[in-house]
Amino acid sequence: MIDCIFCKIIAGELPSWKVYEDDHAVAFLDIHPVHEGHTLVVPKKHCTDFVSADENCLRSVIVATQKVARAVLAATEAGGVNITTANGSVAGQSVFHLHWHVMPRFENDGFRLWPQSTYADTGVELMASEIKKWI
Ligand code: 5GP
Ligand code: ZN
Repeated sequence: MIDCIFCKIIAGELPSWKVYEDDHAVAFLDIHPVHEGHTLVVPKKHCTDFVSADENCLRSVIVATQKVARAVLAATEAGGVNITTANGSVAGQSVFHLHWHVMPRFENDGFRLWPQSTYADTGVELMASEIKKWI
């Protein structure tokens, strides 16, 4: 038995503010929101992260995420949403049950996600061909 907070939330063993549920996915408010309305969308079936998830599971969760994003936009009157998932602790993942963050965003809310850089010389071509090799 996996000791997973999100599995416990899905099973109703831990409380949550659930906003959506279908056969494959559940959505509930994040306990520490970036902005009010910040929602997490998770598959009912435990899987650790995006990269290791099976394709069917991913499809149903992404469709649920779109529904939730539309609802969050309408309910919060946000100008936009960030939809993100962290894959691995080095990327900031702290709960190891796949989840999409749906984060409302507002004009001049001051959040910047991360700084951006530029490629040096031929670096961009090398990187593109390296990634293509693995697909
Ligand atoms: P991660 O850091 O893995 O990208 O996101 C995990 C998210 O889960 C965090 O934003 C955190 O606030 C949220 N979280 C952690 N524990 C709980 C909990 O018990 N209930 C709810 N609703 N959210 C949680
Ligand atoms: Zn789980």
